[in-house]
Amino acid sequence: MVETPRPVDDMAISVFNTLTRRKEPLAPIRPGEVGIYLCGPTVYDDCHIGHVAGPIMFDAVACWLRARDFRVRLVNNITDIDDKIINRSRETGEPWQAITRRYTDQYLGYLAQLKVSTISDHPRCSDYIPQMVAYIAELVRHDRAYVAADGVYFDIEKQAGYGKLSGRKLDEMIAGARIERDGGLRHPADFALWKLVKPGEPSWDSPWGAGRPGWHIECSVMSTALLGENFDIHAGGDDLKFPHHENEIAQAEAHSGCYANCWMHNGLLQYEGTKIGKSDPRMKDPEFRKQFRLDWILSSYGPSTVRFLILQGHYRRPSDFTSKQLEAQRKALGRLHRLLGPGMAEPGSPTLAEIERATASDPTLAPHLARFAEVMDDDFRTGDAIAELFTVAKLETPAALRLVRDLGRLLGLFQPGDEKDTQAETAAAGGAADQQVAALMELVLPLRQQVRLA
Ligand SMILES: [Zn+2]
Repeated sequence: MVETPRPVDDMAISVFNTLTRRKEPLAPIRPGEVGIYLCGPTVYDDCHIGHVAGPIMFDAVACWLRARDFRVRLVNNITDIDDKIINRSRETGEPWQAITRRYTDQYLGYLAQLKVSTISDHPRCSDYIPQMVAYIAELVRHDRAYVAADGVYFDIEKQAGYGKLSGRKLDEMIAGARIERDGGLRHPADFALWKLVKPGEPSWDSPWGAGRPGWHIECSVMSTALLGENFDIHAGGDDLKFPHHENEIAQAEAHSGCYANCWMHNGLLQYEGTKIGKSDPRMKDPEFRKQFRLDWILSSYGPSTVRFLILQGHYRRPSDFTSKQLEAQRKALGRLHRLLGPGMAEPGSPTLAEIERATASDPTLAPHLARFAEVMDDDFRTGDAIAELFTVAKLETPAALRLVRDLGRLLGLFQPGDEKDTQAETAAAGGAADQQVAALMELVLPLRQQVRLA
């Protein structure tokens, strides 16, 4: 059965809001503008694949919003003050500033390789200390936070609706909280906004004594400093819902009475269907651990393969990340690269409106463009959008291949030079190509010539 495609200019974008647990129409606070805050990495160690999955997914979200003519401000912070950083500095004797600078540069370098192009701001926590101190002082002044023996704590019991994002109840948290924390907390689940300095730790001045901010307050302050007290979308990995995002909401609502309108959470990466963490016993094996290291993945499969694999799924679902998967996706991407042939090298990326104008008079292609737009408008279903590109590629005409390339480029795929990542596959294709691609090559002569040159 053929569905009647929705007109491309019907611009209802729907987004799944974790807070309300349903899909809602995107309704920006300022018409035509979308502000997004995405929690970023704590910079104390080499990047693994988990660090860049969220940025790739939300880059695609921002790319699509831009294609739909929204101005997007996408903020992705750098956590450069944290216990893990302080511990690393203590272990190695290297100043914390040198550690955070090195891993910040490494992270930003990887984002550039992965064609993450829409992030407008990378605020660093250490640049926002005065704002954090002022924010905490407001909370203390309104008796929503209090001074205890080792720092300033948020008074969780005064926050009506605490737990609404994660669905956790305060009673359950009492049972789970560690009671042995000293220093006269009002409630065992109260969390630190300001931690007083211990010997050998970096510290900043505050009305409560020298110390440093807690993790949750860092994000509340940086997001509101750059996007306003009420902004459109707060994003992050599923594992950050509790306690990090729950506590961000509590602080911000206690401070300003509002925060992000919509919460988007991306699924975490899995290995052969199961969650993989640093504490997994297999992680002790360097060969196993290597598979998650970004430097190894990028040099083995190329950045365009990584981006392609991440976008093959849906941002809300966990995606499987194994060498087998990477190799399979590299082959699939190589198939598209070969079909696009000389078109890959052409610079430029037409806008969605330009693509639409070029396609409108083509009754074969117009429904595919409509379908692509429909799935992207429906909570950014990038995997279904890519599936549509494969369908269009099978049409094998120059116009169809141009459409594949231009739509892919809207999501940061098929950039000039990307074909290098899949060229090993191109070489192998001489003997072992799948029959379908070989057959298409016979029909698309100019492309075939280019493939021979490559
Ligand atoms: Zn955060």
